[in-house]
Amino acid sequence: MFISCFSATTHRRIRLDSPKILGRTSFPCLRGNLCNLIMKIVFLDRDGVISKYYPKDWTKKWEEFSFLPTAKEALRRLNQANYRVVIISNQAGVSKGFFTLKTLSYITKRMKEEVKKSGGKIKKVYYCPHQEQDNCLCRKPKVGLFKKAERDFGYIDFEKTFFVGDSEVDILTGKNIGTKTILVLSGKTKSKEEAENWQKQPDYIVTDLLSAAEIILNPAEN
Ligand SMILES: [Mg+2]
Ligand SMILES: [Zn+2]
Repeated sequence: MFISCFSATTHRRIRLDSPKILGRTSFPCLRGNLCNLIMKIVFLDRDGVISKYYPKDWTKKWEEFSFLPTAKEALRRLNQANYRVVIISNQAGVSKGFFTLKTLSYITKRMKEEVKKSGGKIKKVYYCPHQEQDNCLCRKPKVGLFKKAERDFGYIDFEKTFFVGDSEVDILTGKNIGTKTILVLSGKTKSKEEAENWQKQPDYIVTDLLSAAEIILNPAEN
């Protein structure tokens, strides 16, 4: 049986039992059923999900970046289960002049290194450096960064994909692109009650990223 495979530059047909595919859990440029079956990708917000959230402030330098207690363990488990972990994060502090893109890149590099040391892997990080008035297409709750990820990775079945965030904007973003949403209470939002009046409700509310990973890894039990 053949399936069609598309990417930005190539279009080819691949046998379902091709050695290129056998044993792989992901293949970035496939479309259709096979892709749904094997493309394992999860989207995470950064601040309040992986790292400490500072109310009305930003992580302006690496020294201020602090992993949340269970984050590395969660990232390790997702990696072990062959999930591609992709971060989608608003960093308006750049546009507002609190830190530069260069600093943000350095923070990202160090974060990825630390995660790697603990057996996890962050595949890709997408930031929106703009603020509201810049009117960009990438600032959550807009879905520009998810679209960019799809261009980079190939077809993503968003309906079968999770987005984990700590704020109302994250949940709204997930609904806008059509993912399942998990709200963690380790950042901006402190309690379930806070989310009760939100325009869009998360599919799950859990304490932290490790609990979110458990839902992602054991969908049948939840
Ligand atoms: Mg956040
Ligand atoms: Zn933007």
